[in-house]
Amino acid sequence: MEVDSDIIIVGGGLNGSLMAIAAANIGFSTIVLDSKDNEANVENRFDGRSYALALSSVRLLKNLNIFKDIIDKSQPILDIKILDGKLVQGPSQFSLHFDNNEIHDGPMGQMVEDRFIRKALFTKINKNERIDYKFNSKVTEHKKQSGYISVTLHNGKKLDTKLLVGADGRNSELANRSEIKKSGWKYNQSALVCAIEHEADHNGVAWQYFMPSGPLAVLPMTGKRSCIVWTEQNANAKAINLFDETRYTKILAARLGNFLGKFKIIGDRHTYPLELSIADRFIDERLALIGDAAHSVHPIAGQGLNAGFKDIAVLAHIIQDAHHRGEDLGSLGVLKRYEEWRRFDSAQLAYSTDLFNKLFSNENEVLRLARNIGLKLLDSIPVAKRNIIKEAAGITGELPRLMH
Ligand SMILES: Cc1cc2nc3c(=O)[nH]c(=O)nc-3n(C[C@H](O)[C@H](O)[C@H](O)COP(=O)(O)OP(=O)(O)OC[C@H]3O[C@@H](n4cnc5c(N)ncnc54)[C@H](O)[C@@H]3O)c2cc1C
Repeated sequence: MEVDSDIIIVGGGLNGSLMAIAAANIGFSTIVLDSKDNEANVENRFDGRSYALALSSVRLLKNLNIFKDIIDKSQPILDIKILDGKLVQGPSQFSLHFDNNEIHDGPMGQMVEDRFIRKALFTKINKNERIDYKFNSKVTEHKKQSGYISVTLHNGKKLDTKLLVGADGRNSELANRSEIKKSGWKYNQSALVCAIEHEADHNGVAWQYFMPSGPLAVLPMTGKRSCIVWTEQNANAKAINLFDETRYTKILAARLGNFLGKFKIIGDRHTYPLELSIADRFIDERLALIGDAAHSVHPIAGQGLNAGFKDIAVLAHIIQDAHHRGEDLGSLGVLKRYEEWRRFDSAQLAYSTDLFNKLFSNENEVLRLARNIGLKLLDSIPVAKRNIIKEAAGITGELPRLMH
């Protein structure tokens, strides 16, 4: 059967775009379909969004020859400091400190602005003859056929492929139409996200304060800038977000303390309602879900995009091997290997971030004492700390080739 391309990816966000590059890298022709209007939507101005890329994600970008285009715009994360905080009283004296030098693999991660990753991915895609990225292409239907699968666009156009990849985000219509149920719940929390410019150097340190209302992360960006991901109960978040910049800054300052000196907000402010959602199945015949379409986790550990990048590296690994063996890359047998490798890991990530959030987002004094003692204890056990750093860096367990 002649198909339009070996693979069709629905959703050209960060995960869909990187999946296309990984698939093209191992020789597959790929069409990416995105409902957005045009490339102008891939903004180049700073909008306040950044990601903490784990070491495993950086390895993936390096292996696909992308990291060289963003290295100058990335800030290495050299240290992570975790503190139990209380509003006004500031952080407690008990803290946990992860130092980069405790592992020998280089920085634990890199902070990169959304606009720079997007631009680097688009530049690569535009130069790649195996990838055809189509804007203004909303997929409204898909249907399994004998030996292939077809998708229908909003304008009635049909395209056929051997493997359909769902990278259409957390409200994946592809998953819905395939009757793939999702487990999880909405948190009564939203993340307030913004970037700040400050007086003092951050020295490459990422801070995580556990405040009663939820975690507050201060992540180092290039220069004297940091990204703030600040979790509040929904009602509070809504109210705070409506405040003007002066009032918003004042509220943030009460939580931050003054370790960065005077600061001001730069770029846009964002609010994201938070939810835990994990697809009961990551696959169907000729369909694989990746990224937020498969799982959406609390940003407490900054692992959402990293988990999507791991899906990509694993799926590329599996379909490359399948192709070498002469197997049909869309068959259930092949896709089951992807699901077995990724679903358990993703569920573990989702539920451990949830537990962490529950344990730390409250004011119970007994729990507070227990977690402070726990943090201090953990801080004194180097082997345990090393293991946690490796886990956060995404370099434990069986790694797909692209993350070696
Ligand atoms: C507050 C916050 C902070 C975060 N911080 C971090 C961090 O520090 N590190 C980290 O690793 N992760 C982080 N994450 C998670 C990360 O942002 C997401 O995991 C990631 O952006 C998801 O990308 P995606 O490509 O899977 O989905 P999306 O970005 O949602 O992309 C989906 C794409 O599909 C397209 N689409 C949808 N439906 C259709 C259709 N029917 N037809 C065609 N196209 C369609 C959309 O136009 C869109 O382009 C954070 C998340 C939040 C909320």
